Parts: sequence; structure tokens; C-alpha cells
Amino acid sequence: MRSLVLVALCSCLSGCLVGPDLERYAERYGEASASTGVTATFLGCASLVFRDGEEAVMTDGFFTRPGKLAVLLDRPVESDPETVSAALHRIGLSRLSAVVPVHSHFDHALDSPVVAAQTGGVVLGSATTKAIADGLDLNNAIVATLGQVYVYPPFEITLYESRHAPVSDGGPPFPGSLDAPLPMPAPISHYLEGGSFSVHVEHSSAGSVLVHGSAGFVTGALDDVRADAVYLGIGGLSSLEEGEPGTIERYWNEVVVATGAKIVRPIHHDDFTRPFGSERAFPTWIFDDPADSLDVIEKLAERDGVRLEMLPMLEPVSFAGP
Ligand SMILES: [Zn+2]
Repeated sequence: MRSLVLVALCSCLSGCLVGPDLERYAERYGEASASTGVTATFLGCASLVFRDGEEAVMTDGFFTRPGKLAVLLDRPVESDPETVSAALHRIGLSRLSAVVPVHSHFDHALDSPVVAAQTGGVVLGSATTKAIADGLDLNNAIVATLGQVYVYPPFEITLYESRHAPVSDGGPPFPGSLDAPLPMPAPISHYLEGGSFSVHVEHSSAGSVLVHGSAGFVTGALDDVRADAVYLGIGGLSSLEEGEPGTIERYWNEVVVATGAKIVRPIHHDDFTRPFGSERAFPTWIFDDPADSLDVIEKLAERDGVRLEMLPMLEPVSFAGP
């Protein structure tokens, strides 16, 4: 908790001192091609919706977004159905087959059960994610088996074991898992990690992608997984690189090189304490500068012939590249 409080505090303090550094990457926005076919829409953090006509699947679906003070003070929070409803309306999403939180921290799983309830879908995730759904009396979550293919035509979803970015004394913030319904509202710190996943989404004719929401990995876990594009979580990476040089390259090799992806689209670089859809800016945290992480990632992408694309917020792009 302490490290997250510190990060939130720094965010509060530094926000007015350091402007968002978008211009350096301006030319990379717009490289993700707009599409009217099978699409991906970035919704901030690790929230993405993949659509083919009326059919859709999503990761996370984090819309309520408690503010900096709530995070700083570890206030009790719960999903706000009206905020979720407004967000779904804004992105024109009324029906969804499945929503998959990449892990169960509040900035991923807080709204997932309510998103599923409002769209007729299911939540697919960890036992901890199920405890959040059950705490809301929604009982709409399935505990996923790693490596099993879940079919939601025309999409197929498979979860692989991963690891949270080790940003809190070498491990995840709020480690552990829940096996009983989480009483709501719950303090931010009670949304335990509950295990982290790499989420593989395959479309019947448009290729496949991997959503890797948190910047940790299990060595070799993705060696037999193939993806055309990786949605790569970069939150916390620059501080990890500073603590242990070479971290970003190892992460890149285990996630991007292992899957053979030729397109990488960074995610989880926006300020998750700001309201949904308000900006595409990088957070202005002192201890983690996503622009520094991207400098390293740009070189690795060049080395390996991978196309690096920044995602526009709330605008559909092609699902898995051109
Ligand atoms: Zn997390």
C-alpha cells in the first residue's frame, strides 16, 4: 500500500509541475490504422474492446476510475452503474460476450462485473475477480482455467499465466487472492491482485492479439503462443528498468519476441485516476516516466522489425494490424 500511496502522492504533487509528454510521440498516433472491419478500441489503462459487427469481447472495462484522493487515502470504492452505463453508451456498446480482467486490482476489475451485467456477457477471470462479482451480488463470473480456449464466436479467448509488474518491493501491490465475496464498497487495497494473465484473443478470420496488461512475465510462458499484435502494458516499466537495467529488454523478449508479433501497441500508460476518456496523456509521475520506457521500446522495435503504434483513445483501429 505504502508504495502506491507514494506514487499517488507524487502524482498529485507533480501533476502541476510536469506537463504530459505527448509531442515526442505525436507521429506514432495515427499509425494504428482506422478500421470499419474487426476493430480494437483503446479505453484507457488495459481496457480494450474488440468488435466484429454486433459481437464484442473486452478486457477490464474500467470506467468508474476513483480519483487521486480515493487512491491516496485507500477509500472504500465500488463500481458505479451509472458511470458504466454512460461509458458504454459513449462507445456505442450494448452487447458483449465476455469481459476479461487482466488481474483483479481496482484499476482492472472494479467495473468488469457491472459491464458484463449491462451487456449480457460473462466475466472470465480469477477467483478473486469472481469474489468481486459476487460481492456485488451479480454472480456472473467464471473462474478461468489457464490454457483453455473459451469460444465466443467469432472470438476465442485463452488466458495464460503471467506476473504483475513487480513495482512493490519486488512483487505486486496488494498481493494475494480472495475466495469469498468482497463486501462492497471495499477499500482500494482490498482489491487483491488475484493472479495476472496474458489474454490471447483470436478472431476467426482477422488474426490474433495478446493483451498483456501488466509489465511482468513468467519465463517461457508464451513460447508456444502466437499473436499478430501485442497490446503491451508499460506501467511501471521505467522504474523497474532503473532498478535493474535490462528489465525492459527481457520483458520485450518474453512477450513480443516469443509470440512473433509484428505490431506492438503500448497500453496502461495513461493516468488511471482521471475520468474515463478525458485524455490520452501520459501520467506525470516522478517515479515512472512512460516516455523513458518508450525510448527503450522504440529501439527494441527497430531491432526486431516490429511496428510501434500509439493507440488513440476511444477511436476504433484495426484489430490486429493492417
Ligand atoms: Zn495492478
